[in-house]
Amino acid sequence: MGHPLVVNAVELLRRPGTRKRVEARCSAAEVGIDDPRIEAGADLDVDVELESLTDGIVVVGGIRVPWVGTCRRCLRPAAGTAEFTVDELYQPTPTDPDAFVLVGDQLDLRPMVREAALLDAPANPLCRPDCAGLCPTCGIDRNEGSCSCAAPPADDRWQALEGLRGRLPDRE
Ligand SMILES: [Zn+2]
Ligand SMILES: [Zn+2]
Repeated sequence: MGHPLVVNAVELLRRPGTRKRVEARCSAAEVGIDDPRIEAGADLDVDVELESLTDGIVVVGGIRVPWVGTCRRCLRPAAGTAEFTVDELYQPTPTDPDAFVLVGDQLDLRPMVREAALLDAPANPLCRPDCAGLCPTCGIDRNEGSCSCAAPPADDRWQALEGLRGRLPDRE
């Protein structure tokens, strides 16, 4: 049995305008993802529709990818699910530089899913949108407690410059 993300495109290629829905769940490893942000056993959900044109097959739909990482503010483990849409083109003989190559009559969605997942998994995640982060002075986790450190002093030389900038005439 073939992989659920390798689609028989015989019917699509025969008649332009033919549509086919592909819904599949597969692991990151099956798609060939090797990235610290996406665990090998993580389940990716793919729900796309294929539609054939005269010179290729358009793939439109959505993909969900669970990711893991370290919160950029509090440095604790963070995890979530990235959901994104795809709109890609497969061509037997690519004329579009961004098109994926359609080899024979088997359309392999895996390279597209892999590329999209790596592009859309967050590089600098947050554990939650309103994470308060660590105090830069004492290092306390502000999500769990507060400290009495003063806010870092503003540098007045820069403020003076900012003030000047508004008053000087623009010179071209
Ligand atoms: Zn955090
Ligand atoms: Zn502090």
